[in-house]
Amino acid sequence: MTHKRIELLFNGNNIQQYTLTLEATNTTIEKITLPPNKNYLIVEIAISQNQKAEDLRFLFKGKRKKPIEFRYPILSRDTKGGQGIDANDLMYMIFPDRFSNGDTGNDVIAGMNETTCDRNNGYARHGGDVQGIINHLDYLDELGIKSLWINPLVENNQPKTSYHGYAATDLYKIDPRFGSNELYKSLNTQCHQRGIKVVTDVVYNHWGNEHHLYKDIPDSNWFHWFPKFTKTNYRAEVLVDPYASQADKTLMSDGWFDKHMPDLNQQDPHLAKYLIQNSIWWVEFAGVDAYRIDTYAYPDQKFMSQLNDAIRKEYPNFVLFGETWVQGSSVQAYFTEANGLNKAFSSHLQSVTDFQLYYAITKGLNEPFGWEESFRRIQMTLSHDVLYKDPYRLVTFLDNHDLSRFYSVIGEDDAKFKMGIALLYTLRGIPCIYYGTEILMKNFCDPDSKVREDFQGGWQGDASNKFTAEGRTEKENETFDFVKTLGQWRKNNSWFGLSKLTQFVPEENTYVYFRHDKAHTVMCLYNGNDEEITIKLDRFAECIKGKPSGLDIITGQRVTIDTSMMLAPKSVRIIELY
Ligand code: CA
Repeated sequence: MTHKRIELLFNGNNIQQYTLTLEATNTTIEKITLPPNKNYLIVEIAISQNQKAEDLRFLFKGKRKKPIEFRYPILSRDTKGGQGIDANDLMYMIFPDRFSNGDTGNDVIAGMNETTCDRNNGYARHGGDVQGIINHLDYLDELGIKSLWINPLVENNQPKTSYHGYAATDLYKIDPRFGSNELYKSLNTQCHQRGIKVVTDVVYNHWGNEHHLYKDIPDSNWFHWFPKFTKTNYRAEVLVDPYASQADKTLMSDGWFDKHMPDLNQQDPHLAKYLIQNSIWWVEFAGVDAYRIDTYAYPDQKFMSQLNDAIRKEYPNFVLFGETWVQGSSVQAYFTEANGLNKAFSSHLQSVTDFQLYYAITKGLNEPFGWEESFRRIQMTLSHDVLYKDPYRLVTFLDNHDLSRFYSVIGEDDAKFKMGIALLYTLRGIPCIYYGTEILMKNFCDPDSKVREDFQGGWQGDASNKFTAEGRTEKENETFDFVKTLGQWRKNNSWFGLSKLTQFVPEENTYVYFRHDKAHTVMCLYNGNDEEITIKLDRFAECIKGKPSGLDIITGQRVTIDTSMMLAPKSVRIIELY
């Protein structure tokens, strides 16, 4: 591997009293660091190019005659991950505790800090797990899914609300209530066999306060401390703002995300190394293709750059995208690499979650047409793509685990639902659909658990099974089929995701744009009016290029391309031109 000098963190009662030697032919100890806590030893080793797969034998010699031996295995490489994701890889996002319970034997693990499994309590665990996801990979195939993002699966041994996964207590271990490291690896292998890429959700900003390295801290420098509990200001824009005060910037980066989430000081070189090595280890061990980085704006940004660079040096096609829940395209673009903004150093981050397009679509579909409203809000938001090196890598969405369900946001309006899905699936970017959106799961995000409800049919004995057509209502099947048709079409047309986008300024509450390359042209037309409208096509001549006919992707019907086209009230048409 590119990374040949690695650090090992040894933990044992008063471990610093021992003398350490390493028995190995091609690996040597380069440096031993004694952190302030005598229970830890930081050992830097150099692995030679000639190192074979074998156990490194570390011998700790103390007062006893026989030294204590610790074996550290060096394994043969077996990389299946690192493929990266692009705009062809339609993504499905699963909140694992609430998707499907494939193993009721792991619902409660004796000895863990939280032992409640109660589906009637939104804050408790419900029993969903990795096996439940494995059991429904056919369902993902049916929807045309090509990449899978699961919220964090690593151990969260917290006493309360541990189900959400964002308060890690062991970075090297899948939470036993979700499964095991081996089961996670097996899920990823099965995904790869189906052509589904794997996205892992990672958090560098904070851990849970039950983390073993917080309960017995190697070095107080690993965390940010305040005389009394101090929260971050959650104001990412201060990192971009040329007029921001240092006080606001420090509070943003060093303040804690929550009381039970100690804030990590990634400027500590040993902690930084710990986090980077762990990230590389998961890619290699479990075959990960991309990382979704939680709370991206909150950790030290120089560290994030270092981490992104290190992973991409090891896996050149790997993709990292950050969660940037921020206001404004310039603030969002600031965190991406090689953007049009004057930045002191490269972030080495290819992509971010596209909250700006999310705002534009959800607001736009709910407001009357105007100078900058409705479809114009979407068209104007896309014009800001000039800021990005590669806007096609932006991860786009209509809702997620922190946001109100899309179907509720648009007032449970089926026509708007179809327009929203069509926008998501046919505009630029990597579209991501949140589990259950396709079967019209609803609710506003107050509290969070309302948008993290169980997928009906994921638990044995559920009243209905929404994974099957028979278990869905007529209305749910109509929307499911719409989502499926577009997903399958996308999957079968691998030219589409990276094709050019050309949009026309919306007029009369209609919106027309094209996706095209040398061999293909797709015309997308939206009518936001309550009445039908006939639109003249001559305005779009530069994209239609005189093509006489087309195929309506949604209905499967042949279409003649004339001088004008009728659009039904509140509707979308997607037509491939010939
Ligand atoms: Ca379970």
